Amino acid sequence: MASDLMDKLVSLCKRRGYIFQSSEIYGGTGSVWDYGPLGVELKRNLKDAWWRRMVRMRDDVEGLDAAILMHPRTWEASGHVDGFTDPLVDCFECGRRFRADLPEILTGQCPVCGARDSFSEARQFNLMFKTFMGPVEEDANVVYLRPETAQGIFVNFQNVVTAARQRVPFGIAQIGKAFRNEITPGNFIFRTREFEQAEMQFFVRPGDDDEWFEHWKAERMDFHRSLGLDASKLRFHPHGEDELAHYAKSAFDIEYEFPFGWKEFEGIHNRTDFDLSRHEEYSGKRMEYIDPTTNDRYIPYVIETSMGVDRTLLVVLADAYREEQVEGEERVVLGISPKLAPVKAAVFPLVKKDGMPEIAERLNAALRDAAIPSFLDAAGSIGRRYRRQDEAGTPFCITVDGQTTEDDTVTIRDRDTLEQVRVSADSLVGWIRDRVA
Ligand code: ATP
Repeated sequence: MASDLMDKLVSLCKRRGYIFQSSEIYGGTGSVWDYGPLGVELKRNLKDAWWRRMVRMRDDVEGLDAAILMHPRTWEASGHVDGFTDPLVDCFECGRRFRADLPEILTGQCPVCGARDSFSEARQFNLMFKTFMGPVEEDANVVYLRPETAQGIFVNFQNVVTAARQRVPFGIAQIGKAFRNEITPGNFIFRTREFEQAEMQFFVRPGDDDEWFEHWKAERMDFHRSLGLDASKLRFHPHGEDELAHYAKSAFDIEYEFPFGWKEFEGIHNRTDFDLSRHEEYSGKRMEYIDPTTNDRYIPYVIETSMGVDRTLLVVLADAYREEQVEGEERVVLGISPKLAPVKAAVFPLVKKDGMPEIAERLNAALRDAAIPSFLDAAGSIGRRYRRQDEAGTPFCITVDGQTTEDDTVTIRDRDTLEQVRVSADSLVGWIRDRVA
């Protein structure tokens, strides 16, 4: 059932232009995906919702856009060169490699060829992608594609304090690509080798960290609920001692009940003063903060909120997907909240005559002029046109009919309730804007 649902979602995403396999014409690249016309809009809306709430609506969080390539010492200081590894085993029969801690591997049977107890000893495998900077491929020129955006924030801590004149407690937020050479990626865009993170590091006085941790936990859960997600499929998962990362004092995952089970899509971590202290040690530059009123000096503690953008997009899609019967016919709906939906409205002339196509074109253009993504569709029966938009997740369908040519009103049909209202063509843009902004 679970794989059935995932297969349907993957196929819908391709059909409607949400997500395509990367370099598909060459047979695809392993666990890398491209976002199509609807996918890129959905992703942008998701990132905008995050940025708006985490940066624009707060005066205690600053934005940043740090480069992907960083000085390699960064990754020694952060612990990634030595510690960002997964245990890996090889199957002697088929030669495939797996994460040693996968439940299938622990049973002793190879999930690909079925051989029993034919695994090598586990070895540590570093997940960072390595490349070379400059024209010479030698060790001295090794750089890494960042495996998390957080370090770009830590190395800029003092720059932001000085430039933005922020006082602790305050945060720095950024959205950007991260890369991990995962041994066993999978489940569509759940675990990929190239992905985006939306991260915020909140710097606090040591001792105030527990209180801020609770604040951010609640705030982040509230954000996910505000996306219209099914609250019964969201929960916190506290990390036990054995799950805690080397830098963390405490950590909670926010999990969603995917078709393949409860899984993390955001982490809230108390990173203590680990990262700033290590950068002070490795760079020789001061990372302490001087409180301008008390003159106290300390290295701040950090509460991190780290959301995977692609994984959250999968949450949005999985949560929105439903199949239902309407008037004896099956329909597939992506019930994405109007605020996140990639296309907000579709305009249909009922028939291709009596001036209806021209009115529909005019209304579609008016929506586009107001930067409301809208789609004009005159092809096929009205029922077929509704079904296509339901699958694409378009919340409102507007029909221009015979009455429009008489009194300049149109019908708007709601994707979820199927209710229809009639509004004047003049008020259409405002009506839609009020519901999608
Ligand atoms: P996991 O245990 O699933 O590998 P993690 O605990 O290593 O994840 P973090 O390092 O805390 O994850 O990263 C924060 C967020 O980044 C995750 O909650 C997830 O949404 C996202 N993320 C991490 N790795 C990947 C990946 N390979 N593909 C897609 N998203 C990822």
